[in-house]
Amino acid sequence: MAHQVIGMLGGMSWQSTAKYYQLANELVGERLGGLHSARLVLASVDFAEVEERQRAGRWHEAGELLAREAVGLQAAGAELLLICANTMHKVAEQVQQAVDIPLLHLADATAMAVRQRGLSTVGLLGTAFTMEQDFYLDRLAAHGLQVLVPEAADRAEVHRIIFDELVRGEIRADSRQIYREVIGRLTGAGAEGVILGCTEIELLIGAADSPVPVFPTTRLHIESAVAVALGTADVGGFAPR
Ligand code: GLU
Repeated sequence: MAHQVIGMLGGMSWQSTAKYYQLANELVGERLGGLHSARLVLASVDFAEVEERQRAGRWHEAGELLAREAVGLQAAGAELLLICANTMHKVAEQVQQAVDIPLLHLADATAMAVRQRGLSTVGLLGTAFTMEQDFYLDRLAAHGLQVLVPEAADRAEVHRIIFDELVRGEIRADSRQIYREVIGRLTGAGAEGVILGCTEIELLIGAADSPVPVFPTTRLHIESAVAVALGTADVGGFAPR
């Protein structure tokens, strides 16, 4: 039986979407062997148009933009949908309402990985929107997780590095060191693991940069999507407990 077509809403930024595409193909290849690769359709937006709306707080408009793209993905044959960014899950419901195919929520896939590891208190790194607004924290909390965010100055620095460097493809050793120090303060405050809650962060840091397990959201999201597409997991399995 053919595996399902994954619909990716990407371009936010394309640096991490490239990683999604690569991982999707690698994972399907590993699972099915031979020359198998992922069946997918990709809508890649102009990130400037999204970022401008995020900064201005015009979330509904940003949601309309993504909803239009989602409709296009469904028409192109997508059978399940991914928003390839943490921040834009702020409008996940608006996007889901525009289509009939299921949206696989990134925070659900991540929270399930944390729970499977037996952890309940985690630090969260991401954009200021993700670290400070309810949409993401509440979704994690619905899985029974206790979430610690960095203090204000650290949040500002984590956010700045995402927008000034990572989404532009700039990977700097001094910024990696800053992230390591922020992680150190989160673990000092009791974090048993750290969610890399922005899809570009795992381009900068990994397990070796943290004394506690890290949860890379790009990898976890696409691992879940591939499991669903291959029929080894149910999309409903990712709903909050
Ligand atoms: N890729 C990012 C995320 O996962 C940030 C880019 C954005 O603000 O959409 O949140």
